[in-house]
Amino acid sequence: MDLSPFQPFLDRFGAAGFAAWVPMLAVLTAQRLAPGTHGDLPRWVAALAAMPRPGPGQAVLDAPAVGVEGEIGAVDRARLRDALMALHPWRKGPFRLHGVEIDSEWRSDWKWDRLTPHLSPLAGRRVLDVGCGNGYHCWRALGAGADLALGIDPTRLYVMQFLAVSALIRSTGLAVLPLALEDLPADMTGFDTVFSMGVLYHRRSPLDHLRGLRRLLRPGGELVLETLAVERAGGEVLVPGGRYARMGNVWSIPAVATLVAWLAGCGFRRVRVVDVTPTTTAEQRSTEWMRFESLAQALDSGDPGRTVEGLPAPLRAVVVASA
Ligand code: SAH
Repeated sequence: MDLSPFQPFLDRFGAAGFAAWVPMLAVLTAQRLAPGTHGDLPRWVAALAAMPRPGPGQAVLDAPAVGVEGEIGAVDRARLRDALMALHPWRKGPFRLHGVEIDSEWRSDWKWDRLTPHLSPLAGRRVLDVGCGNGYHCWRALGAGADLALGIDPTRLYVMQFLAVSALIRSTGLAVLPLALEDLPADMTGFDTVFSMGVLYHRRSPLDHLRGLRRLLRPGGELVLETLAVERAGGEVLVPGGRYARMGNVWSIPAVATLVAWLAGCGFRRVRVVDVTPTTTAEQRSTEWMRFESLAQALDSGDPGRTVEGLPAPLRAVVVASA
């Protein structure tokens, strides 16, 4: 597929002090998106090609629905909607693109609103979002004045969603690359703020994940870690040993106190728990843009405080720490 949409960002990223790593990021991106590497890739590429690209409009990055407003006719708007719908499921959002409203599974703006009051101002910062999904929070970081935002996520559909949104918003300050944390060059560093949200419990080795995040930060840089957690006075880790809220890839869910101890043990300083919030079926739900089952079907119908597996219902913690 055409990789040229990534280039303006990579040029800018190189000029911002990351030039040593740009060639490797470009090679890995090309490998992951090479023909034949994913059965759905041709269909996604066709959807992107069929997407109308109206002239530049007014980007909206500092509102709950990220997107762009501009001139578009009814026929093109319907074609735009079809092309975006071909990239179903949209888990993160909302977006509003030339009048097409993408009501995603998650109200990702709610998470953003919970954590931003506790961050060092993002203005002028170089941001990395590990496990960024389609890049929703990267756009919000740019909207808050970040100099640039690199998102990485190994799920290629989300990279396709990013390419669709980005072709309409047209910013060079942001890219989502099809990479996992482990793919980043071992000596890469220098970010001012690193986000890792909704990823830790998917990792078999959570402490290695935390150490990997720390090395990417410049000294004094800020980590924003969001994860499933459990409320326990003492330290403890819930190991589901099977499914958790119907998800098959949840390895360990730390108590909030354990999370703090893990971060301190990995060398982070000034570790602050800034938010602990139960996830509701208003924040995570099936919509037209995510037609599969969602949180409501993962909770015990007789006791919404439990998952269908009988485990504590999802609770999410946000911790901010300095490298
Ligand atoms: N950060 C977003 C999305 C969370 S969903 C948010 O908070 O809303 C978790 C994402 O982590 C998925 O998109 C998944 O593809 C990604 N992921 C899983 N393992 C990863 C890894 N090793 N490195 C980076 N991302 C990973």
